[in-house]
Amino acid sequence: MKPLFFIFSLCMLSLGFSQDRGTNAYILEQQETTVFNDLSDFQKKVMCGGATEKPFTGKYLYNKADGIYTCAACQSHLFLSATKFDSGSGWPSFFEQINKEAIEEVEDSSLGIKRVEIICSACKGHLGHVFEDGPPPTGLRYCVNSASLLFKPEQK
Ligand SMILES: [Zn+2]
Repeated sequence: MKPLFFIFSLCMLSLGFSQDRGTNAYILEQQETTVFNDLSDFQKKVMCGGATEKPFTGKYLYNKADGIYTCAACQSHLFLSATKFDSGSGWPSFFEQINKEAIEEVEDSSLGIKRVEIICSACKGHLGHVFEDGPPPTGLRYCVNSASLLFKPEQK
């Protein structure tokens, strides 16, 4: 574990990130991939550093168009617009992922509370968290940073 932490610290230093979350091994995997290279500095901070965008600031919060939300980094399909709902939380919210393989869940104990972090299965980029206070039929609320998403409108 120690060497991992050392590498992690180096990554955080070289990227200039403040460490605002626990150390997760998947961040190390990310350093070996290039899908994050084209993201903005802020998107990297969210997707590689686990930062959270300020509520009511994300560009997809009020997006009601039909289409697919993909991972901003690797463009894997994550959510359908039909599963998006207004949670009032200030972040884009979905009650269901596009399929059971799209998103992985990771226990997150940062901020002193237990939450379930969600990451892109394909590239391991940070997306947000999932809570069990969503609407039917799933009762889930995938609370996602706009910075981690890319919206692709439905082709008419
Ligand atoms: Zn991805």
